Amino acid sequence: MIQAPLVYAPPRLDRSLPPIRINLFSDTQTRPSPAMKDAMMRAEVGDEQNGDDPTIEALCDRMAALMGKEAAVFLPTGTMCNQIAILTHCRPGDEILAHESAHIIANEGGGPGALAGAVVWGLRGARGMFDSQAIGAALRERRRNSPPQTLLAVEQTSNAGGGSVWPLSLLNDVLGTAHAEGMKTHMDGARLMNAVVASGVPAAQMVDGCDSVWLDFTKGLGAPLGAVLCGSAAFIDEAWRWKQRLGGSLRQGGVCAAACLYALDHNVDRLAEDHANAKALAEGLAAIPRLAVETPETNLVFFDTRGTGQTATELAASVRREGLSVSVVGAYRVRACTHLDVTAADMAPAVEIIAAALRS
Ligand SMILES: *Cc1c(COP(=O)(O)O)cnc(C)c1O
Repeated sequence: MIQAPLVYAPPRLDRSLPPIRINLFSDTQTRPSPAMKDAMMRAEVGDEQNGDDPTIEALCDRMAALMGKEAAVFLPTGTMCNQIAILTHCRPGDEILAHESAHIIANEGGGPGALAGAVVWGLRGARGMFDSQAIGAALRERRRNSPPQTLLAVEQTSNAGGGSVWPLSLLNDVLGTAHAEGMKTHMDGARLMNAVVASGVPAAQMVDGCDSVWLDFTKGLGAPLGAVLCGSAAFIDEAWRWKQRLGGSLRQGGVCAAACLYALDHNVDRLAEDHANAKALAEGLAAIPRLAVETPETNLVFFDTRGTGQTATELAASVRREGLSVSVVGAYRVRACTHLDVTAADMAPAVEIIAAALRS
């Protein structure tokens, strides 16, 4: 079978389109601010591979403390955090339980299978979450012909689940169930600080039941790259071996770690503004006839165009011609994402552009 070529339209680079005025495509599209760049310029650096970069060491110490874990390792991306955590927790043939909408299933190039040789079994549940009953129903008899079920993975917040926040009681319940079954637990905390800010639950308390957890510094925290994976000292030792093997071991990476430290100091509390902007955007969109809008819990706003007669792709293309960028996440599902490079004043014009596109 001949497969269609992979298509990805870079939202900024198509010169036939007007410049983007309001970029709600993703919270990954932020640019490092002048003050962040200044912190990067001033970073003290060394050779990370030799444990010698003071800025990376400081970031890892700070993240381990924030998460209440023994140790941490700096990695270039969140995807590498997920994959190294899976490589560290699992052996070939193991089965991972995760929500069926999980990033590790849909958006990491088949990494769990390609790298760790692990299979991911998708659990169902509303808004990217599931309960202990769903885990119970997925548990296999321990027989020679069953795959060992060794890891439970959760996303906080759940991206495809609508930027939803796992309530602490449900989270602890599923993590406890996994541990009782002898499984390890992993949290994809790409947007963990959004969950922390939205719920008021401190990070360490939220991830207490996780054997591994990571935070992305490029999702709304404004850094150009970087993510930090945390866990026990033994887990991080093993993760470091994978970092080295995969070519993720850096040299003067402190230039980038300085941006992450800057983000921790300046860009966490302000996530509340992104959440307020998302709420205002959703309220504006909810007034548009036949548009089904999910109530946002954090900075991601999902809406469904099915009732309007336009597909998500059609709507995204017509608003893009008016300088608004949103992302298409399904035939009729659109995602708009708030972040530190959009303002409260951008929300009403964004709603108006979408309303106008749906009127035409
Ligand atoms: C973006 C994202 C990732 C991957 O992070 P990168 O830094 O882009 O590799 C993983 N999980 C979730 C839920 C994400 O949103």
